[in-house]
Amino acid sequence: MIIFADCQDIRKMAVIKEIDCPKCGAKNGIEVFERDSQTIGDSVCDQCEFTIPEGVVLEVYLDGLYEKDKKV
Ligand SMILES: [Zn+2]
Repeated sequence: MIIFADCQDIRKMAVIKEIDCPKCGAKNGIEVFERDSQTIGDSVCDQCEFTIPEGVVLEVYLDGLYEKDKKV
């Protein structure tokens, strides 16, 4: 369950990260908002519209993507 506190509170604790898109490789193509090590909202690539969903741990999610690549 997610309980939203005061908006300013969320902003204070949020971290913004720019990452390379795992799909099209765009440099800093995706701006990810992170709080408590979990993503906030959908993060969409500017170029290919690849989307990282809300509520995932970024590193784990990206690791999962690369794992899939290896199997194929
Ligand atoms: Zn992309």
